[in-house]
Amino acid sequence: MSIQLYGLCETHSSEECNFYCRVCMFALCKECKKQHDIFEHEIIRAYKVNEVASFRLADLESLRDASDICPYKGNGRLVEVIYKRGDGIACCHGQGNVVECESCQYRLKSPSAKYCSIQCKVEAVMKMNESESVTNEAKRKVETISEESASDVKSFTKRPRE
Ligand SMILES: [Zn+2]
Ligand SMILES: [Zn+2]
Ligand SMILES: [Zn+2]
Repeated sequence: MSIQLYGLCETHSSEECNFYCRVCMFALCKECKKQHDIFEHEIIRAYKVNEVASFRLADLESLRDASDICPYKGNGRLVEVIYKRGDGIACCHGQGNVVECESCQYRLKSPSAKYCSIQCKVEAVMKMNESESVTNEAKRKVETISEESASDVKSFTKRPRE
């Protein structure tokens, strides 16, 4: 994921990028945002909650991006953390009913969640898509082969007799 939220804007060096366009998957500063007034591009604001870059859950609710991600409470609001929180090392083996992030093993507070952060979900979804496209590719190959052999048979048997 190439979002560098809270970095300084490359074009406007005095501005922090704390907006994010979902369509372009790009971080924007407030000056960029003004120029980025493209119809149907959803721009969401990022917040720093306890020094952690987050999106407000309310901003994500209309989008399906937020499903499976563990919500956190910060500044009285529910937020979704943007960046991965765990280090991939499971820390709480042997304790039942502990839910860990499927990508980075960060311990989750919500039992229905699968990921600690938006980054972890994006990574997991990308992995899924990769393996899916591999299977599709293999399937397509099998299909073309069987189609070819089928048409071979047809042209063979339907050869007009004289
Ligand atoms: Zn955009
Ligand atoms: Zn800018
Ligand atoms: Zn995670």
